[in-house]
Amino acid sequence: MPSPSRRGDDTYDALVIGAGPNGLVAANHLLDRGWSVLVLEEQATPGGAVRSDSEVAPGFVHDTFSAFYPLAAASPFIRDFHLEKHGLRWVHAPAVVGHPRADGSWALLHRSRHVTAGLMDHQHPGDGEAWLQLCSQWDRVGHHLVRALLSPFPPVRAGLGLATRLRSVGGLGFVQTLLSPATELGRDRFGGESPRLLLAGNAGHADIPLGSAGSGLMGLLLVMLGQTVGFPVPEGGAGSFAQALTRRIESLGGRVQCSTPVSGVNVDSGRATGVTTRHGDRFFARHAVIADVVASKLYGDLIPRGELPARTTRAMKRFQIDPSTIKVDWALDGPVPWSTRPPYDPGTVHIADSVDQMVEALGQVSANAIPARPFMLTGQMTTADPTRSPAGTESLWAYTHVPQHATRDAGAGDVRGTWDRDDLERFADRMQARMEKAAPGFGTRVSARRILGPHEMEARNANLVGGAINGGTAQLHQQLVFRPTPGLGRAETFLRGLYLGSSSAHPGGGVHGAPGMNAARAALAHARVRRFIRG
Ligand SMILES: Cc1cc2nc3c(=O)[nH]c(=O)nc-3n(C[C@H](O)[C@H](O)[C@H](O)COP(=O)(O)OP(=O)(O)OC[C@H]3O[C@@H](n4cnc5c(N)ncnc54)[C@H](O)[C@@H]3O)c2cc1C
Repeated sequence: MPSPSRRGDDTYDALVIGAGPNGLVAANHLLDRGWSVLVLEEQATPGGAVRSDSEVAPGFVHDTFSAFYPLAAASPFIRDFHLEKHGLRWVHAPAVVGHPRADGSWALLHRSRHVTAGLMDHQHPGDGEAWLQLCSQWDRVGHHLVRALLSPFPPVRAGLGLATRLRSVGGLGFVQTLLSPATELGRDRFGGESPRLLLAGNAGHADIPLGSAGSGLMGLLLVMLGQTVGFPVPEGGAGSFAQALTRRIESLGGRVQCSTPVSGVNVDSGRATGVTTRHGDRFFARHAVIADVVASKLYGDLIPRGELPARTTRAMKRFQIDPSTIKVDWALDGPVPWSTRPPYDPGTVHIADSVDQMVEALGQVSANAIPARPFMLTGQMTTADPTRSPAGTESLWAYTHVPQHATRDAGAGDVRGTWDRDDLERFADRMQARMEKAAPGFGTRVSARRILGPHEMEARNANLVGGAINGGTAQLHQQLVFRPTPGLGRAETFLRGLYLGSSSAHPGGGVHGAPGMNAARAALAHARVRRFIRG
């Protein structure tokens, strides 16, 4: 059982700022180790970017932000929480990912690698075998690679496991494959377009340019998770995932207090001692304050100015946030009328005319231009989970990235990048035109539409700075020991007792809980050392 408070109801072993997935994972782990924990959340409901709502149309559930959870399904710590005992039920679409092609055919990732390979081989003989070979290489190293990616840096134990298995998949040759740009990885291994589209499209979930090192690993990781754990969704909406994490916290005696924005971390002699809320309440931490807060806001707003070392202030000036996002949610009165129905209906759908066009759209975003033909990630949520809307309808979303500071419109010039209501409507029309091209008659099925731009996103979750979804760029120069600023790539901060546990910390964005888990483990380890020193 959690140890009793020292100063009363306002003192806990650990305080967690933010009830995003990382904050909730940290809290769960600390409670499992017997700590008392209070999670303070600014919004009215927990979950951060793992929430759902019914604002778009009556009877429709839309995931407000994230929707598919391959990383959570692959995460050893989330699995170990046994959230099914707390009401979580994962469900899957018939196919994992689809990409409609210009000729009416589909690039499809089915949950069964053999079905995927069969579909690829039908389009380009030889690709099926190449796909199965890639899957078999993954089988030998994938588990260790995922563990290494999710471990604190440097991943000593998981790294050793990975190193010993690399030889069985070709040693350095395979390492080179992992480091290849997504565009090259597809070209090197496959003759047809479908595997290339799937690798590049999945790499496009992060903001790593498709021609750069690191994008291949991202693409490979997601497609191979698609072949192993799939892209599951929580039955009933993303919110039921957050609710399960919250219920587990409560079952262990912890508390998640919503509508409680934290305005500052309290510091005494170089140690974080607690927090103050915007309402003026103070809470005290016996061992740790874990911040599930984007790095720029933790260091910019929550730490008293005088406490911030000059090197941190300097390093944070170079901190690079990831691109902004525009998300459109639709309530459709029928299924998406794809120009050709895929052989298996996918949950996730990528919209781009070709790999080159994807490169063009993402390149425009990197060059601060609003993309003319945005590369879109879309989710057919009722296809994945029939509880999301009435039978025969579809709860659909699409999002795409736009620059944080747009200097021009690479399209018709009618979008300015101010992202006021007018701008958003015009850009959503551009996104909808992309849907219309792939699914003629799409517009006639739309019964309601909601647009979330950077301002709406940040208002619903302060971590989504300017609509950035990953707590900082995922590009190599801000990963590992460079995340969020050059250092050790660990959760510890310059203040004793303060840990960065959000996606701004290694290994970054996505719902896997690793930054939260790493922060919780670091806090536990330090408390053990302090206990040992005190005798
Ligand atoms: C549109 C969108 C789509 C995405 N799609 C996917 C997907 O399909 N699959 C996937 O794996 N990942 C996806 N992601 C990324 C993923 O959701 C994030 O990487 C993940 O949620 C990060 O978790 P976190 O706990 O670090 O932060 P968040 O989820 O952002 O949560 C942070 C929490 O802290 C709270 N908070 C911040 N400051 C304070 C404060 N001062 N006081 C109190 N509370 C505070 C916020 O209100 C929020 O609840 C998506 C993200 C977005 C935005």
